[in-house]
Amino acid sequence: MAQSTTSVNLEIEFTLSTKGKKILLYNGYRYVLNQATKTKKYWRCEDGDNCGAYVHTTSGDTYIKNNGVEHTHLADPDEHLINKLIAKIRNRVMNEHLSAGFIYEFELVRAKLTESQLAVMPSFKSISKLNIS
Ligand SMILES: [Zn+2]
Repeated sequence: MAQSTTSVNLEIEFTLSTKGKKILLYNGYRYVLNQATKTKKYWRCEDGDNCGAYVHTTSGDTYIKNNGVEHTHLADPDEHLINKLIAKIRNRVMNEHLSAGFIYEFELVRAKLTESQLAVMPSFKSISKLNIS
């Protein structure tokens, strides 16, 4: 059976690191841009010193494939949850005419984060930068 690698827009999302760097999120792992050509971008697992997993996207950030290398570490479920939450907040802020601060507070309360999750949740200020892109 031939496996289609095109047209399926797999679950990749983007967020910004606390330093404002673009992060690709895929399967609960975070990838940073390692190399970009005219047509493609190569994203390296954020834990790249120890891990050889890569994701390839088009220059327009559409998923192409991953290099099939297994991660040498587990995805952090807390981080995954928070990344999802940030993506959701960002999505609502872009699509709804409510104040970004209100949406942030609302979703934060609704997510019922644990104390340790709250500790790594980025501030509203750093998330609000995401509106620019
Ligand atoms: Zn990895």
